[in-house]
Amino acid sequence: MSTTVVAIDGPAGAGKSSVASALANMLGFTHVNTGSLYRAVAWAARKKGVSIDPVEQSFLDSIKFEFKAGKLLVDGDDPGDALRSSQCAADASFVAKQAAVRAFLLPVQRQSAEKRWIVMEGRDIGTVIFPDAAVKIFLTASAFERARRRMIQGEVPAGAAIEDVQKEIEARDLQDSTRAVSPLKAAADAVTVDSSGLTLEETVETIAAIVRKKRAEAGV
Ligand code: C5P
Repeated sequence: MSTTVVAIDGPAGAGKSSVASALANMLGFTHVNTGSLYRAVAWAARKKGVSIDPVEQSFLDSIKFEFKAGKLLVDGDDPGDALRSSQCAADASFVAKQAAVRAFLLPVQRQSAEKRWIVMEGRDIGTVIFPDAAVKIFLTASAFERARRRMIQGEVPAGAAIEDVQKEIEARDLQDSTRAVSPLKAAADAVTVDSSGLTLEETVETIAAIVRKKRAEAGV
């Protein structure tokens, strides 16, 4: 075990953000949501009116990320709830397929773990960003359950039907898991946790127990 990282990867809507945040609180670690970085790249491109197909290197070079009081600032601005829209999610999934975007965000993600314990959630944390993470979790749930949760959280357009939300989730799963660069997949040494029948508290406790056991075994 050579890093201070708990990696939580998994498909859209599996509960990664709520689980990672609660787990980080419980353990006193810092929570890092890497999906926000992909969303922020897409958001900044739309705001500046530049191409996302493809995202140009000169645009990537111009982006300045800052983390202030737990908030991600993009070129000094707080995107706020704009990052959570379904349009931004779809744009993020689109830009995340591009090797230049992933290469740009790799050091940003690695820097955030320097000398402190973090819970980092994403799609390729255990496979690409931190292949030597202390703990790797692949958090999943059925597509129906994930659609149901998105509806409860209100992260869908008004009046959306659950069937359509489920289809959108399945389309994003397909895009994320079949892309050529860093596809969504469980690391060979990840523990898979299916949260379909579990409450948030049960899921967090399940993962916390795995973290405690791995740390005890490694003596860290
Ligand atoms: O996790 P979230 O839904 O915010 O991520 C938005 C999109 O960003 C995902 O659909 C995925 O395409 C991309 N992403 C990624 N790798 C990560 C985190 C997010 O490709 N580590």
